[in-house]
Amino acid sequence: MKRYPPAIRAFPHMIHGADYNPEQWLKWKDEIWQEDIRLAKQAGMNSLSVGIFAWSMLEPEEGEFHFEWLDEVMDLLAENGMKAVLATPTAARPNWLAEKYPEVLRMNDQRVRNLFGGRHNHCMSSPAYREKARIINTKLAERYKDHPALGMWHVSNEVSGDCHCPLCQQNFRLWLKEKYGSLDAINEKWWTTFWSHRYTKWEQIESPTRNWMGERDVHGLRLDWLRFTTDQHISFYRAETAPLKEITPDVPCTANLMADCEELDYYAYAKELDIVSWDNYPCWRGDEKGDVPIAIHAAFCHDLMYGLKRKPWFLMESSPSCTNWQPVAKLHRPGNLLRQSMQAVAHGSDSVQYFQFRKSRGSSEKFHGAVVSHEGTEKTRVYKDVCSVGETLKTLDDVVGTVKDGKAALIFDYHNNWALQDMRGALQERTAYRTEIEKHYAVLWKKHVPVEIIDQTCDLSTYKVVFAPMSYMLRGDFAKRVEAYVEQGGTFVTTYLTGYVDDTDLCFRHGFPGPLRKTLGIWAEELDSLYPEDENSIEWNGQSYRAHSLCELVHPETAKMLGQYGSDFYAGMAALTENVLGKGKAYYIAARTDEDFLSDFYQTVLDESGVSGVLKDQPFNGVSAQRRTDGEREYVFLMNFADTEKQITVDGESITLSPREVKLHTR
Ligand SMILES: [Zn+2]
Repeated sequence: MKRYPPAIRAFPHMIHGADYNPEQWLKWKDEIWQEDIRLAKQAGMNSLSVGIFAWSMLEPEEGEFHFEWLDEVMDLLAENGMKAVLATPTAARPNWLAEKYPEVLRMNDQRVRNLFGGRHNHCMSSPAYREKARIINTKLAERYKDHPALGMWHVSNEVSGDCHCPLCQQNFRLWLKEKYGSLDAINEKWWTTFWSHRYTKWEQIESPTRNWMGERDVHGLRLDWLRFTTDQHISFYRAETAPLKEITPDVPCTANLMADCEELDYYAYAKELDIVSWDNYPCWRGDEKGDVPIAIHAAFCHDLMYGLKRKPWFLMESSPSCTNWQPVAKLHRPGNLLRQSMQAVAHGSDSVQYFQFRKSRGSSEKFHGAVVSHEGTEKTRVYKDVCSVGETLKTLDDVVGTVKDGKAALIFDYHNNWALQDMRGALQERTAYRTEIEKHYAVLWKKHVPVEIIDQTCDLSTYKVVFAPMSYMLRGDFAKRVEAYVEQGGTFVTTYLTGYVDDTDLCFRHGFPGPLRKTLGIWAEELDSLYPEDENSIEWNGQSYRAHSLCELVHPETAKMLGQYGSDFYAGMAALTENVLGKGKAYYIAARTDEDFLSDFYQTVLDESGVSGVLKDQPFNGVSAQRRTDGEREYVFLMNFADTEKQITVDGESITLSPREVKLHTR
């Protein structure tokens, strides 16, 4: 059976819940708390996330603790058969903490210390912050370790960002010493002889700046700073969770991620988490033209979250109505909340949770969507939408823990992304690695192919085909593992801008695609960047497809030319190649193309590799099909991303979906 046990022990249900801030309503608690629990239960909720920003109510002055209100909330949850996703409060700090220990506030890259305010901005090196976090987390764990409501730990909230304070600079230098051993090694790996930037003392090393004020041209430095920052977050997470792990070893820990955050290596960070969770806020438009691209982006993010551990994950936040921070706070159209929620489940989520349960009365989130509005009753349209999600989730116990079991993988690598963001040349910022990856993903999504998003460190052996567009940086032994994967029968597909630099951002000597030259059987001699009005073509399989933006001039060595350029001085040169190596094949697409070429070419590759979509031979018509499986049964989720009725054939049966409807088909 390909199925994981439920994340919350002995609670084999889809989790349905929301971020809940009862501490904001302490003055009205007799009127509001009981009513909140009644409304939550009635909406089919079985969990609430509490305590996320509650530090100033738990410890209003240093060393003075008040857990009575939280005791009452935890008891209420337990009495009603609900679970608490209990947060550590460290994502925002009380005023006294910043006042007494200014080192806890972050310093920006211009070396300016933040004032008190906001959230998410503590220094990860600060011994004072670590100690205060240890104390409050220990007290929480000790107090609630045997409480029947305790289901899961929600560690901090949406961590991100970096700190450039003297403590962090010191830790960065220690991290570099550990990694490189000597300044000579750093000077070589960072190529500092360029512009006379050589270091002669460790103290001379400073974190990079975003403008000309300091160092921003040594790419190895910026890469290592981003890696160090990821490690800082990991180190802080370990420090925060140490008391939780010790006192409540059976309670899983998660930290809610943001799939659009590109500044941390989430694959490294996720290794620390017991379960991945993330916060999904798609900007739905309401019609097919607007919603299909939004659905693709959300699907990509969900599959990325699945790929971090290759396991089911939790949707920790989503808005039951509009958000308060997007450019346009558009309401969900009828049926949209259920579709948004089921899309997450279809891509591997074992939960649907919202931000927020009850709208705040004041401050910046008072107009963010909530299960309970300022009106305060069950009369609202949004509340009824939440009830319909609750009704549906109650029928999905069998889906809990089931897997994607994708036979196709798409590589999205954070380090490669960072290196491409720094790359000068090509199209500068329009080199756009992530946008391009999502374009390749869109083609596979429209074919209803279950895709797992992985990075260069992940095992390739379970996949029949691996797509790795723009693998500019080849890290560690990735190229060797790709070679072995192809030799053993795998299919590997990559594109222009592959195999240029190693993991310290130094160009490979002896030609590109560097250590993948044997696997791909080509030499990439030059890269032509085109103006937006320029275009070329790839002539393949009797058709001409537009090529644009980036065209690489490659020479097949052992590879066979499948397609060629149609114009310019490189007309007739290889634009698409195939190299047979051992029992497998490696393909190279030398130019950037539109979806039409990728769709036709990828169909050939998928057919050859024996990978099929969830719906066979069913062209995309606005309905997406995704599946989860326990190895015996398949749960096929059909989701209509159009605002009109659609027909689709599944296993010979014609199924009608009304606008925005979702149906589950089991086989
Ligand atoms: Zn710092």
